[in-house]
Amino acid sequence: MGVIREKSAKLLSGEISTRELHPLLFSGESEEVADGVMFFRWFANVTAVRTGEGLVLIDTGAYFNQRATMELIRKFSPDRINTAIYTHGHVDHACGTPAILEEARTRNLARPRIVGQKGVAARFDRYKRTLGYNNVINTRQFSRPSSFPSEYVYPDTYFDTQLNVVAGDHKFECHHARGETDDHCWVYLPQRKTLFTGDLIIWAAPNAGNPQKAQRYAREWAEALRTMARLGAEVLLPGHGYPVFGALNVRHVLNDTAEFLQSLYDQTLAMMNGGTSLDEVIHSVRPPDNLSGKPYLQSVYDEPEFIVRNIWRLEGGWYDGTPSHLKPATEAQRGAEIAALAGGVDKIVARAREKLDAGDLAIAAHLADWAVAAAPDDKAAHEVRSKIYQARADAEQSTMAHGIFHSTALDSAAKAGIPAPEDRRSF
Ligand SMILES: [Zn+2]
Repeated sequence: MGVIREKSAKLLSGEISTRELHPLLFSGESEEVADGVMFFRWFANVTAVRTGEGLVLIDTGAYFNQRATMELIRKFSPDRINTAIYTHGHVDHACGTPAILEEARTRNLARPRIVGQKGVAARFDRYKRTLGYNNVINTRQFSRPSSFPSEYVYPDTYFDTQLNVVAGDHKFECHHARGETDDHCWVYLPQRKTLFTGDLIIWAAPNAGNPQKAQRYAREWAEALRTMARLGAEVLLPGHGYPVFGALNVRHVLNDTAEFLQSLYDQTLAMMNGGTSLDEVIHSVRPPDNLSGKPYLQSVYDEPEFIVRNIWRLEGGWYDGTPSHLKPATEAQRGAEIAALAGGVDKIVARAREKLDAGDLAIAAHLADWAVAAAPDDKAAHEVRSKIYQARADAEQSTMAHGIFHSTALDSAAKAGIPAPEDRRSF
């Protein structure tokens, strides 16, 4: 058994958890997962399929390691790259393309065809408009400096709902589905019973919440997963993490993930239809117990509470049902008022410290935010805020929450003039 099959089996049985083997931890391992289908375990996975007319790639990987991606592909086969299909336009999936085009030019080969759902172009256009924002949020999300790309290789072949990409006697059936993104495409290769899900499966609770990013689509995502589950695929290649082998396992992963999303959606909608405020919704809706324990649905990247917020934003709007939030006073005004009530910023700081010691981290965080809003240069306020947010970062399982809390701890540590807290996780 190859290393990839072995790790897949251990993850599925629970022998290894996704906390130890996080889906974003990349190894550069590769394995032929079906006849002529070479899977590369990359930051975002890349797959090369050998056909009678050259290689077809599913995703081209990230911009930051595109030469290494090309080397991996060339270790597998010297064949011309016929086509690259983008599962979506995220920069870790669709930005390894320049190295591929450069190689084709150097070898005097025809430029590979690039296939993507039509929303990919609008996404790349948006990324160019929001370059600064994307650097800010990705630095925060991953707790390391981001250098978001400013140039993109756009597809030359677009589709709206469905497209068959034919190469030799292989037919790659590309299907559009809104899910993690509005431009997502999942691909089925019936000749090898192999399914490429893109990020609709990532070995973690679906990234359908992501606090700092554009809208996600939980209900349509669940629908797409149920459609995929009916195919009878025997190999599932996810956007991140390890493949899933065996028709039964594939069906379980797809159907369980669908049910997880559907349940969050249905619970949220029922409460919205009943006139409940967002505050009550996010503190009540939970994924079903039988699913939240599944090894492929752990909240190691995104989390259900954030998914609920995205459902609210999509089906409702940004107003959360708390009237003072409609046209709020500034954070500074609110902090000053709380400080006046408490009898000074130092009283808030003392209370925040007590709450930190008692482990009431969410309340401690509110107090610390009020203290620095009232007194942005107060070193003691920043010191306690740094400690509170680092405690929160350490307590969190998800990359998203960890990243935001840890970056806040760093920011306040710098303002307090104390040593930067250590980042105790890789993703
Ligand atoms: Zn991804």
